[in-house]
Amino acid sequence: MSRQRRGDEMRAIGVDVGGTKLAIGRLSGSGELYYYTERPLPGLDYDRLLNTIAEAVQNVHDSHSVSPRLGVAMAGWLSPDRERVVAAASLGWTDRKLRQDLAELTGLETIVHNDANSATWGEYLLAGRPKRGAFVMLTLGTDVGGGVIADGRLLTGAFGVAGELGHLQVRADGPRCVCGSRGCLAVYASGKAMLASARRAVAHAPAEAPLLSKLCGNNPVRLRGHDVATAAQQGDKAALGVVREAAAAIAAVSAMISRIVDHHTLVLGGGASAIGPVLQQAVVSALRVTTPLGPVLPLPEVRLARAGNRAGVLGAADLAASAE
Ligand SMILES: [Zn+2]
Repeated sequence: MSRQRRGDEMRAIGVDVGGTKLAIGRLSGSGELYYYTERPLPGLDYDRLLNTIAEAVQNVHDSHSVSPRLGVAMAGWLSPDRERVVAAASLGWTDRKLRQDLAELTGLETIVHNDANSATWGEYLLAGRPKRGAFVMLTLGTDVGGGVIADGRLLTGAFGVAGELGHLQVRADGPRCVCGSRGCLAVYASGKAMLASARRAVAHAPAEAPLLSKLCGNNPVRLRGHDVATAAQQGDKAALGVVREAAAAIAAVSAMISRIVDHHTLVLGGGASAIGPVLQQAVVSALRVTTPLGPVLPLPEVRLARAGNRAGVLGAADLAASAE
């Protein structure tokens, strides 16, 4: 077998099925995405979406001679063998044989992972794939997802829910969460939660949220996630309060995780990570207070995600390419 042939075998197509959009990309033999595109979902109908994915895959595949593997990052709860989507709340699907259905439609060997796990793997690759220790990521989107890589292995768990870090409980008496529990990280640190908190600040104390109020024309309903980021970056007191509350919850969860896997890196990803260094620094400050033996032991390095939306596609493609 030639060197070129071995390089070709490593290639894969990655697809990220999110709540509102579909992203697709192709992984080169050297481990880089050399094609990437996004499109809105054609709707939530399972068969229609499957056909859209197959068509997108075909378009990418046509121009290449080698048959790649297909890696899929799926927003939802997967069965432990990752054959089925047990439930995908954002799409309204339950019990779908996604892996087999896509493999049959595309004719490609298909491997499915949870979207946050895939994004974590993508960021792990960009971090230089550290072989030892634990690498943890939180995706701060509409919900909060996560992933844990320990000693180079992505943890998926006995029942398929390893890395669901957004539903670790921060406060037992906290607000009700979509998962049925209370006070989960997601109710404090999701982009949705931060936006709701900022809207409350504008509604109840606009004088203390001058920039937030200005950005939405004093109408809290018009406030958007990027307004919260802008206001926090410019020092708006209320917006900074929202970010600090989220950061405190993130730090509390990081402290729990450190007792289990003692992670060296915590990556903040998802849409709300666009808040940027203000969020990163708030998490570091909160970690100093929250982490057991924080003043004595080194803290995990807190990083902002590097790949943005591409992380899921990159991770899914590489997980497929490297699967045994
Ligand atoms: Zn929850």
